[in-house]
Amino acid sequence: MFTLMGHGIGTDIIIAKAWINIYFSGLEIRYSEILESEITSEIDRLRRAIKMLDKDFEDISASFKNSKTGDFNNLIDSQRLILNDPLLVVETEKRIAESLINAECALVRQLDFIVEQFSKISNLYFQERKVDVEQIVGQLVKKLSLLDQIEKPRKLGSELAGKNETGWICVSDEISINEVSKFIQEGVRGFAIESGSPTSHLATLFKSLEIPAILGLQEHNKLVEHGERVILDSESGVLLVGVDSYILTEYEERIKKGVQKKQKLKVFVGLPCQTKNKVDMSLMANIENPAEAIKAIELGVSGIGLFRTEFLFLEKNKMLSEDEQFEAYKRVIEALNPLPVVIRTLDLGADKLPASFSSKFTKDSNPALGQRGIRLSLENPDFFKIQINAILRASKFGNVKIMLPLITEKEEIIKAKQLIYQSLGNVSDKFCCDLNTPSIGAMIEVPSAAIAIESLIPHIDFASLGTNDLIQYTLAIDRTNNKVSHLYNPGHPAVQFLIENVIKSCIREECPVSICGELANDIRQTRKFFMMGLREVSVNISDILNMKEAISKIEV
Ligand code: PEP
Ligand code: MG
Repeated sequence: MFTLMGHGIGTDIIIAKAWINIYFSGLEIRYSEILESEITSEIDRLRRAIKMLDKDFEDISASFKNSKTGDFNNLIDSQRLILNDPLLVVETEKRIAESLINAECALVRQLDFIVEQFSKISNLYFQERKVDVEQIVGQLVKKLSLLDQIEKPRKLGSELAGKNETGWICVSDEISINEVSKFIQEGVRGFAIESGSPTSHLATLFKSLEIPAILGLQEHNKLVEHGERVILDSESGVLLVGVDSYILTEYEERIKKGVQKKQKLKVFVGLPCQTKNKVDMSLMANIENPAEAIKAIELGVSGIGLFRTEFLFLEKNKMLSEDEQFEAYKRVIEALNPLPVVIRTLDLGADKLPASFSSKFTKDSNPALGQRGIRLSLENPDFFKIQINAILRASKFGNVKIMLPLITEKEEIIKAKQLIYQSLGNVSDKFCCDLNTPSIGAMIEVPSAAIAIESLIPHIDFASLGTNDLIQYTLAIDRTNNKVSHLYNPGHPAVQFLIENVIKSCIREECPVSICGELANDIRQTRKFFMMGLREVSVNISDILNMKEAISKIEV
């Protein structure tokens, strides 16, 4: 038995089979087993992809035939030789037949083998060929996916669903936010991913879905076999591989204890959120979709402190119309009424930009510092107004507040408010209703905003500390980069200084203030801020009851 370590997301333990997911050349390669009866057709699929690629090479060659591009034609010839080399073709076919796997996986396995052989030869020529083979395999994988789109759209991974009652744990080098729900629908109950860090938006999504996960997992390549039983302990961030019956029993016992603990926590649902010395705290929920709003009410929250609306777009992987957004906001607002719902305007950009949006918005080379959050909205006012109209229309069903993400200076708030007021007039006229102006607040998540908070306060009705980004920007650590995630330190004096500055300034100026970043879950941290007068925190649904219990044990 051995363990692979990473950052645990959640508190649950699950025992299930490993579903190995591979990415190659930017494409997801779904590991897929085939039946013996499918060998011939799978080999045929591979051959057709090879033929397609060979034809591309032939066409390119023909178009340059009469030009003086001898070197280029030689290059194309050498690529065609690799493409038709038995070491690639015949051996991949053998892998399909012997391992009963799909063509993509067989290709990548054969590529690994070839690369390994080439790296044993310290000759520059072979080192360069290694890159050529990688490129050819990349192009073949793309052709295979093209074939699938043209011919029958294969439901990759459909064999996953219902095959095993205990489901699967997806083990992958990476995964994008919009793919997660697809895997869950197909029977995946947990994720162990090499990329990502505990404060990445991927982590946020796993928490909101209450799916146990490990991010920043040690390299798993070839260590975990597809279909083998593994244990995912999301509390300690450990993936156990090759477990024996002794370990299995121990973990089954721990699962039972986890269930009992959750059961005990339920007593807090009906209790007010108070400290030991009876100081009331407002415990709000962070949500990403309407379904979570219902869960939040069942847990007895004081309201929604952060509705991350961009996740509605990410889940669907498309732009939502005004009506579609209106329906989603209305569901949340109506369900919570009269409790407050803080709707954050779109915080798209950086790691939250679905592929389908990339043609609309330019891709930044340094996205966390680029067009993200309020910047993207103000640069695209028509797009921003669609969301604002939808929020304002929904606002008549309850208690809504609007929050602006990634504010760095007061001018952004002023511009956003102008657009909101314009929409307010238009929506009121169009729908013949008298709408109240909602409270407008700002996320304080950039050091400039935290330092110059006093210049923002006159323009806002409330402030909420987004500690995930505040820590990322203050300590210069990319929250999506696992290689620097060990530097994430909420206790860093600079971070503490900024949080204190915001809380104290807001209290002095009587501007309501809360914390909605991950740090809010950490009672050792929040206790200090409660002592300063902070009375509101907003946490993920899965942390609500734990937090209520933790607050009940402290004195302020
Ligand atoms: C934050 O930055 O702390 C925050 C709550 O917003 P998000 O995690 O969505 O960036
Ligand atoms: Mg943020």
